[in-house]
Amino acid sequence: MESCTENRDRRIIIAVDGFSSCGKSTFAKAIASRLGYIFIDTGAMYRAVTLYALEHGAIRSGIVDNDLTVSLLDDICITFRFNPQRGASDIYVNGDLVEGKIRTIEISNCVSAVSSIREVREKLVAMQQEMGRNRGVVMDGRDIGTVVFPDAELKIFMTADPEVRARRRYAELQAKGDGVPFEEVLANVVQRDRADMTRAISPLRQAPDAVVLDNSHMSVEEQMAWFEREFARVQQSLRR
Ligand code: C5P
Repeated sequence: MESCTENRDRRIIIAVDGFSSCGKSTFAKAIASRLGYIFIDTGAMYRAVTLYALEHGAIRSGIVDNDLTVSLLDDICITFRFNPQRGASDIYVNGDLVEGKIRTIEISNCVSAVSSIREVREKLVAMQQEMGRNRGVVMDGRDIGTVVFPDAELKIFMTADPEVRARRRYAELQAKGDGVPFEEVLANVVQRDRADMTRAISPLRQAPDAVVLDNSHMSVEEQMAWFEREFARVQQSLRR
């Protein structure tokens, strides 16, 4: 019975936007695997450009040289390859696997500055639109429902208490053996929220037609149950 219902479902675009360290990627990945959709973590793409800029002298002492970063853009080829062990795609820059290098506090501290450069956004947004051309994607980021796919059938805006988010990110970093202090993680979360919301181009905004998911006190199972209801609601409205 269930598969009959699923077969009637239209393949759609699901935009998951929101604040830093809300668990957007974990949530988006779980949705994609549940639906058999492609999952695209657009934050990883901005992080990959930041890593390349850092490794090629365009970021020194935390200061981003915008012109140099823009001049490097044509040399950066970003690709994704599915990793069955992770159940998600790994990100590659010019054929090099960079997944393990892009989630450090050093990259987190510079990524908002890099992502505020117009030419960087133009390049990555065009790639993202191409990846979602055939629909059937879950894309997480900051501007997916507002800029990349304003016509996404389901837009989710995720938020959570900053302390809760910093605690989650801190636990992740600790698990990787990164001894960064909690205060630094919290400061980064707050500073990135501010930078992402106040930048001139494509600032982080809730799309007017987005549904809000505040997961401060929700388990993964509760979030999935919430999603199932929203997905059913959208599919129902598409059938009308
Ligand atoms: O999602 P994540 O925290 O990994 O994103 C890292 C940074 O990339 C964000 O803080 C934001 O500056 C930038 N970003 C963006 N637009 C997106 C996704 C991420 O500007 N669609």
